[in-house]
Amino acid sequence: MLDNMKYPRGRLLMGPGPSGVHPRVLEALSSPMVGHLDPQFLALMDNIQEMLRRLFRTENRLTVAVSGTGSSGMESAFVNVVEPGDEVLVCVNGVFGNRMSDIVERIGGVLRRIDRPWGEVFDPAEIEEALARHPDVKVVAIVHAETSTGALQPLEEIGDLCRKNGRLFLVDCVTSLGGERVEVDAWNIDMAYSGTQKCLSCPPGLAPVTFSERAMEKLKARKSKVVSWYLDLSMIEKYWTEGERAYHHTAPISMNYALHEALCLVHEEGREVRWERHRRNSAVLVAGLEALGFRLFAQEGHRLPMLNAVWIPEGVDDAKFRKAFLDEYDIEIGGGLGEVAGRIWRIGLMGETSSRENIMTFLGALETLLERDGHAGSVGAGLDAAARAAD
Ligand SMILES: *Cc1c(COP(=O)(O)O)cnc(C)c1O
Repeated sequence: MLDNMKYPRGRLLMGPGPSGVHPRVLEALSSPMVGHLDPQFLALMDNIQEMLRRLFRTENRLTVAVSGTGSSGMESAFVNVVEPGDEVLVCVNGVFGNRMSDIVERIGGVLRRIDRPWGEVFDPAEIEEALARHPDVKVVAIVHAETSTGALQPLEEIGDLCRKNGRLFLVDCVTSLGGERVEVDAWNIDMAYSGTQKCLSCPPGLAPVTFSERAMEKLKARKSKVVSWYLDLSMIEKYWTEGERAYHHTAPISMNYALHEALCLVHEEGREVRWERHRRNSAVLVAGLEALGFRLFAQEGHRLPMLNAVWIPEGVDDAKFRKAFLDEYDIEIGGGLGEVAGRIWRIGLMGETSSRENIMTFLGALETLLERDGHAGSVGAGLDAAARAAD
């Protein structure tokens, strides 16, 4: 019984992650196992660090891939710099801001939280005001690309504000890294983390993380131990540093092969070219969706190119449609989370998935399903508008 288990067949992954994985990454994943202190593996780690620095746009010495998915990156960013009793300002406009707040409370931080309606972004003035109200805040945390709503948060001014006021700036780049501009040094970001399975188009399992010297100083000056042994970056750093290489935990070897290859693909394409591809393809998809009567969810001017959130039109059954996409077309799209569950779809165009071909496949399927469901005039309308937008 057990050994007859079939592995899944492929799907077109157009949800909030994981995204499509390039065959070269899958091939790297199946390379032979070596030890975690093997010189071949150490050389590969050095390469990963260098490629991550180029992608995060930073000179930060501490730039590593933490073992675990994007959430382990989030947890490591907080747990290393926040000591019990430290005040943390968390900006919440979706699921991942909520998750940050939860982590702050779990590790004994004092949560100062400001909220915005889902789909909207924060204005720097709101953060300035909150900091004036809470002068002891040590860390300001915000999500760059809110995957639950499709909103892209501008960061530059907030980073300036934090630096001027002596606060550390912590940013979630899980969905933005590899799909949109991220400038860790220029935007004064002190702690940033990402995940492998969004715009890096790698299987889930590692979290790229980068810490500024200021963040490292806060870590080194701690009076209490980091409450997570596994995510303590002062120890993890030693394993990633040439000349030290102290054993902490066994690195997920194969996952690092995959990340290495995924980063090679990113840099072969070029950062700017890749961001432009994400933007252009999003515009094509949106033209098709709007022609079919869909309205975008997130605030205009602040929409993510890699995650397109749309209101589900009146008369369209969320669960029925998503099941039909999966069963009949092998297409996965994302439903809404939390307060917008059942009301929005999240259509991902992340990394490898962001292609003209995939958009047309999706729109063709959507038109057919709409027409069958009684929405006459759907067939051709979306594809037509998309093709025009693509010219
Ligand atoms: C996906 C995601 C996470 C969590 O990553 P996991 O890999 O699911 O642990 C955190 N933040 C954002 C913005 C995300 O999109």
